[in-house]
Amino acid sequence: MMDPTFPDADRIRIVLVGTQHPGNIGSAARAMKTMGLHRLVLVAPERFPHREADALAAGALDVLEAAERHDTLASAVADCGLVVGCTARARRIALDESGPREAAAKVLAEAARGIDAAVVFGRERTGLENDELQLCHAAVTIAANPGYSSLNLAASVQVLAYELRQAMLAREGAAGDRTGAQTPDDLPASHAEMEGFFGQLADTLDAIDFHKGRTPEAAMHKLRRVFLRASPDAREVRLLRGVLADAQRMARLAGERGSGSQS
Ligand code: SAH
Repeated sequence: MMDPTFPDADRIRIVLVGTQHPGNIGSAARAMKTMGLHRLVLVAPERFPHREADALAAGALDVLEAAERHDTLASAVADCGLVVGCTARARRIALDESGPREAAAKVLAEAARGIDAAVVFGRERTGLENDELQLCHAAVTIAANPGYSSLNLAASVQVLAYELRQAMLAREGAAGDRTGAQTPDDLPASHAEMEGFFGQLADTLDAIDFHKGRTPEAAMHKLRRVFLRASPDAREVRLLRGVLADAQRMARLAGERGSGSQS
């Protein structure tokens, strides 16, 4: 069954070129389905269909059975607006190169705009030919042991499929945040609200004698980073400011008592 959560997956195809071992086709289908991908395209597989493919696909037989077949990579990606080719070795060919995470983000951005995108994998023995890489907009390399950097074909599919799923989840989370934020209180605090909070934080640190003669800038710099990273909403900033207000009040009381005992 398809993963209904990610409609963008319809626009993402995994293309295996000239696969030699049918078991790898099955394992690739399984790798895809576990990550919510379902469009498998086979370019001139050496042996397919094959019982080893079925056996290794396990619960992903549906992905295998729905696989499209093409004779050439050009025809497999003809209607794609973005094609990225996975290669273990940097080739002498002028292509942008990136890692799986960056590539997955680009693929998903295209899919989300309604544009079909392909991630292409080569043959077990020889990978993708240079003229096949020429059809790609960018190359993807999984950073691996330089002394042995060639992953199993289906393992590479798993790495890319995983990153595609993370990208889909991130996009879904961002969309959820947008639609779920019904009131201004739920929105991340504005720049002005954060600055108001930082001003009060600086005053409070002075009032409780936090700096003890050190310059306040270094501490404030770090504290700003912590709170900006947390991206609190307006309600949370009010809560934090309430805590500061109480600390300021206690510091004032302590100060009054202190000066009272001296007099
Ligand atoms: N000897 C071949 C290895 C092919 S492995 C070569 O050097 O190219 C089969 C396919 O898995 C490759 O064509 C590529 O698509 C993918 N692959 C394997 N290791 C990879 C890596 N480190 N980075 C990106 N893709 C890789």
